[in-house]
Amino acid sequence: EIVDITEMVDHVMNRFEMLIHSTEYKGKDYQINKMLIEEAIFVEVDPDRMIQVLDNIMNNAIKYSPDGGTITGRMEKRADRVIISITDEGMGIPKADLYKIFSRFYRVDRARSRAMGGSGLGLAISKEVVEQHGGRIWAESTEGKGTTFYLSLPYVPFEEEDEWV
Ligand code: ATP
Ligand code: MG
Repeated sequence: EIVDITEMVDHVMNRFEMLIHSTEYKGKDYQINKMLIEEAIFVEVDPDRMIQVLDNIMNNAIKYSPDGGTITGRMEKRADRVIISITDEGMGIPKADLYKIFSRFYRVDRARSRAMGGSGLGLAISKEVVEQHGGRIWAESTEGKGTTFYLSLPYVPFEEEDEWV
């Protein structure tokens, strides 16, 4: 299915913005900052699965930022792929763990993670889904400062349209 990924990211972030303003989160100081693109970008994806990926990254950004902070979504259009990034100001991930978090059941700091719930499957599934769609997923992080997750996905150029003008 061909979907507008700009709209999908916008939609997911709006949903989380409503969530953090709901009673469950009252008192914690989270902010959602959208620095998306002003145009539609079409990607060929299974929409339910791609929403699941964005949900997990947003959910992690909140879950691993126990003191709140700003969660920023950015988009950047390159020659043949779109890059989506989600940055938080949370606890961060130690360098040595950065390549392991995409493995099944891997969770940084088991004791702390247990208190935060989850199974350690979210990112393994996310990686599988993104790669199935010809994309990549990776993370950059500084312990104690925050983490950025990146998704890159090939987009459909729609150049054929010119022929009809
Ligand atoms: P699940 O997503 O299955 O409910 P989970 O969130 O623990 O459980 P993943 O989403 O796969 O599992 O994340 C794996 C681990 O990576 C987490 O347990 C956490 O230690 C670390 N992690 C993921 N996102 C972040 C983040 N934004 N900041 C800090 N650590 C993170
Ligand atoms: Mg998760």
